[in-house]
Amino acid sequence: ASLVTVLIHLGEMATQTQSLDEETFQLLGAELGYRIQVVSPEDEERELFESFDIDLEAEAAAEGDDVLEARPPVVTVMGHVDHGKTRLLDAIRNTKVIEGEAGGITQHIGAYQIATEVDGQERQITFIDTPGHEAFTAMRARGAQVTDIAVLVVAADDGVMPQTVEALNHAQAAGVPIVVAVNKIDKPEANPEKIRGQLTEYGLVPEEYGGDTMFVDVSARQNLNIDDLLDAIVLTADGALELSANPNKDARGVAIEANLDKGRGAVSTVLVQSGTLHVGDAIVAGAAYGRVRAMFDENGQSVEEAGPSRPVQVLGLDSVPRAGDTFLSTPEERTARQIAEKRQAADRNALLAKRRKRITLESFDEAVAAGKIDTLNLIIKGDVSGAVEALEDSLLKIDVGEEVQLRVIHRGVGAITQNDVNLATVDNAIIIGFNVRPAERVTELADREGVEMKFYSVIYNAIDDVESALKGMLKPEY
Ligand code: GDP
Repeated sequence: ASLVTVLIHLGEMATQTQSLDEETFQLLGAELGYRIQVVSPEDEERELFESFDIDLEAEAAAEGDDVLEARPPVVTVMGHVDHGKTRLLDAIRNTKVIEGEAGGITQHIGAYQIATEVDGQERQITFIDTPGHEAFTAMRARGAQVTDIAVLVVAADDGVMPQTVEALNHAQAAGVPIVVAVNKIDKPEANPEKIRGQLTEYGLVPEEYGGDTMFVDVSARQNLNIDDLLDAIVLTADGALELSANPNKDARGVAIEANLDKGRGAVSTVLVQSGTLHVGDAIVAGAAYGRVRAMFDENGQSVEEAGPSRPVQVLGLDSVPRAGDTFLSTPEERTARQIAEKRQAADRNALLAKRRKRITLESFDEAVAAGKIDTLNLIIKGDVSGAVEALEDSLLKIDVGEEVQLRVIHRGVGAITQNDVNLATVDNAIIIGFNVRPAERVTELADREGVEMKFYSVIYNAIDDVESALKGMLKPEY
């Protein structure tokens, strides 16, 4: 309670269960005469690596021009729904399968690499095979920046739409240069000039108007001008970015997709960002680790090694990493295992901390006695609206006394959804399900977030449980 008092003196309204921002912590520390160090997840990772003599920053600083080699750009395709992102990714891939590797079976592993000729030189480009800015943003949220260039697809018969703007905002926020693919120019109503005008208003000024954004008119359906688009990507990469990496060291990169396969175990696609990954290397990806048992490319062909900007499917991890998890290979498998174990423990602690904060019917009186809470928040879901209303009415009629309150923050008809769980997370609520069950993924989410769900098929039992929780939680009287 004394911390709360200090905070209030500092002009900060606070309760004991609230989390504080870094600045407030610093103020608090100063007031109490302590030096407060807020450890960010990045710092934690760095310390973890340093404890194994892996210093990524020193490594990056030591990489002078002498060890760096050019690497292909990594491209994400973004744009409004139905403007042709998927079709364009397929068109590029089908017209540009790397010579000599044709004949394999196309595998969607989350990314692919193609080769194209620009000014008489063979150049490679890596495409992330999951279109849209959601994946891009999810990876960035996890600290992974994999995209060098964004291709913004805009349908010439439709024009700039909400997700077009969202996508370009995301790319610009990440400082990623944009190439515009004006798609569907085969359609009679296509108006590519209109798109140029519209995007100019968002700061994407076409080169032909004196700006620095390349616009290419394409048709993904008729494979029109796909080569021009690839040229524009390479030229933008050469002009705006100096893409290089040291291929001669242990591999580092990002997991971009992963799943559990019945026969093959954990299968994860990783994008190598620097160094070279070999079959037989020990690696750690997020909290998963193992030895690379085999690697496959986007044509299902087995590969022995993968250098910078190369996506490969990796077999041999003990579990499934998450998209956006960083990976690195280590000289010894023991190191990979220890890093994975530390990360697992860190994940577990974060999870437990999260769970401890959540309320359950059983822990409610304790939380009240500790002065942490005085309101029981409920979300009620039922199979029919009559039942939901009846349950809510009865619950609100419970005589709770003066010290505590009951609040129904949301009610509805139908199965318990992820949205209900998210709401419960934000408002620290318990979910009451009357004759409804959650989908499997919803149960997983609730488990992970520590949200309690209680299921009833008799209204009286629900009322009884809530009432005993409320009665049990009455604060002791003095
Ligand atoms: P996404 O939602 O952006 O991934 O869009 P899709 O690639 O699924 O394409 C949406 C629809 O537009 C599909 O019916 C495609 O066949 C069609 N489409 C895509 N590109 C073209 C094109 O260049 N010309 C025409 N006429 N239709 C296209």
